[in-house]
Amino acid sequence: MAECIFCKIVSGEIPADKVWEDDHAVAFRDIRPIAPVHVLIVPRAHRESFADLTAEDAPFLASLARAIGEIAEKEGVARSGYRLISNTGPDAGQEVFHLHVHLLGGRPLGPMLKKA
Ligand code: 5GP
Ligand code: ZN
Repeated sequence: MAECIFCKIVSGEIPADKVWEDDHAVAFRDIRPIAPVHVLIVPRAHRESFADLTAEDAPFLASLARAIGEIAEKEGVARSGYRLISNTGPDAGQEVFHLHVHLLGGRPLGPMLKKA
């Protein structure tokens, strides 16, 4: 998508600190990290969110699973632990409408959600 910031990162049109990539997925460091390890894993193809995926996206899901394991090892959080978050839609506060999974770790992350 022409105006999508993550499509531009995937294509290399705008720079990002890429940490992992294969034919279906790309991972790069979040520009405003909220933990010592804060990596975003995205599909190369533009998909708005998990709600936008179909059976055709199975190869991306396989890459995502591999990316999670390999990035956690590489970033040194495989044993200490990490959290995966994918904000989907307004109640989740999704800001960038190109599917992304946050991989967060490197410190105790506290409770999963603040009480409303
Ligand atoms: P969301 O709230 O949609 O789950 O999170 C979007 C994330 O993308 C935010 O954590 C934000 O810091 C990150 N982000 C937004 N623009 C850029 C960018 O241009 N480069 C990188 N590396 N991260 C970005
Ligand atoms: Zn996109």
